[in-house]
Amino acid sequence: MYYLSPVRNNIVRDIRNKMFLKILFLPVSFFTEEKKGDLMSRITNDVQEIEWSVMQSLEALFREPLNILVFVVTLFWISPQLTIFVFVLLPVTGFVISRIGKSLRKSSGKSKELLGEILSVTEEALNGQRVIKSFNAQAYIESKFKSLNEEFTKLMIKVYRKTDLTGPSSEVFGVFVLVCVMLYGGSLVIGDTGTLKASSFITYIALFSQLIPPIKALSTALNNAQKGVASADRIYKILDAEESVSNIENALAFNGLNDKIEIKNLFFSYINSNEFVLRNINLNIPKGKITALVGHSGSGKSTLADLISRFYDPTIGDIFIDGINLRDLNIYDYRRHLGVVAQESILFNDSISANIAFGMPNVSLDDIINSAKIANAHEFIMQTAEGYDTYIGDKGSKLSGGQRQRLSIARAVLRNPNLLILDEATSALDSESEKLVQDALLKLMKGRTSVVIAHRLTTIMNADNIVVLHEGEIVESGTHEELLKLNGHYSKLFNMQAFL
Ligand code: ADP
Ligand code: MG
Repeated sequence: MYYLSPVRNNIVRDIRNKMFLKILFLPVSFFTEEKKGDLMSRITNDVQEIEWSVMQSLEALFREPLNILVFVVTLFWISPQLTIFVFVLLPVTGFVISRIGKSLRKSSGKSKELLGEILSVTEEALNGQRVIKSFNAQAYIESKFKSLNEEFTKLMIKVYRKTDLTGPSSEVFGVFVLVCVMLYGGSLVIGDTGTLKASSFITYIALFSQLIPPIKALSTALNNAQKGVASADRIYKILDAEESVSNIENALAFNGLNDKIEIKNLFFSYINSNEFVLRNINLNIPKGKITALVGHSGSGKSTLADLISRFYDPTIGDIFIDGINLRDLNIYDYRRHLGVVAQESILFNDSISANIAFGMPNVSLDDIINSAKIANAHEFIMQTAEGYDTYIGDKGSKLSGGQRQRLSIARAVLRNPNLLILDEATSALDSESEKLVQDALLKLMKGRTSVVIAHRLTTIMNADNIVVLHEGEIVESGTHEELLKLNGHYSKLFNMQAFL
């Protein structure tokens, strides 16, 4: 046990590490299909279950077979006839035990799923605090939680009962077999064949009763392992999940954009959906220019931006970077030159400087401050209690929307990306902070290749090329003036904005 303790704990550590790493590299699409709470449950509860059940069983699997083997060989030596008789009875016992095991595995798997859902609801409740409170939705969320919890409890009662059933039932079978042995063995002793001496028979019975505890321990262990197998299935669903967007073998290095991004005959549909969200997209994004994507909500702007970031690969068609297919480029090289500022600023519960330097090694404070200045963030940072060392709370909740967004921009400035993607970076802001952010964005875009999706059309009038998306297709493109003259989709959108 002393030496097994590091073994079991190290195995569990390795599984946990592997899962976490996998989560970091799985494609974005994986997470829209799975519940966050359930994923968290797998990395904690299911891994723990493995530690518990599989490791426990491994111990038994090492210890008991040896015991059993020694006893069986001795028994065989005393009376082959009687031992063969015992072996005829064993499969019946084995069958019943394995039935319990199978049903245990099923219930245990289901219970882990439910536990995942419980965690999902908890996670949503924690994240949705404000909405739950302002909509007085406590009772609704509570009932959702309670019914899941109730279902889980009922299932767990079943699981426990089944687990507890293994011990007694193998004991009953042990006694049953023992009785049969006594009957048959007794007849061998009393009968006149004289195959078995009375003294040998007594030794036989004594040894046979010693055989029952290890068999019982082994069957309990096997059934426990079934619970672990259910958890292992859930873990391997993550570990074996396909990285649909991944580096091909010998992926090409990328050192920055030289000429243009070219999108050719691109069609895209999300997994589990057979409708194309983007259809027949052909688009040139020249280096150093601003390309704007406009269109109604749901027209596919963000999807197109995600394709350029290579969060997804096109279903049909290709994206070429300086003539090289994006699929052939080293994805990590490519992303190193990519800066993304989205509508929702993703910040971490860490200091301001750590959030700006996010993921970059050896960044000097001077560089961080410079980026913050360009992003119009320096001033408000200096007004916080501890300046660049201030912790910003969960998801940056201690900052205002505009401040969060300016931190995101500072982060993008610091990375000094070649290619910039702005997805409605100002749409969640009030008009005053929008001006500050807008100004920061203009400074950020200077000299870079930018793809801009803007909520307010006034922010993209300066773009070199405006591309109008309508229901997943490009319907118009050109400069602001050209498009206005067309008097089509763009001018309609523009007029709607003007009257706001
Ligand atoms: P926009 O950014 O122009 O408002 P999106 O690109 O976000 O539009 O969405 C385009 C279409 O794709 C919408 O109809 C939306 O319902 C659908 N969509 C977006 N994300 C997903 C997803 N993860 N799975 C399935 N459909 C999606
Ligand atoms: Mg969008």
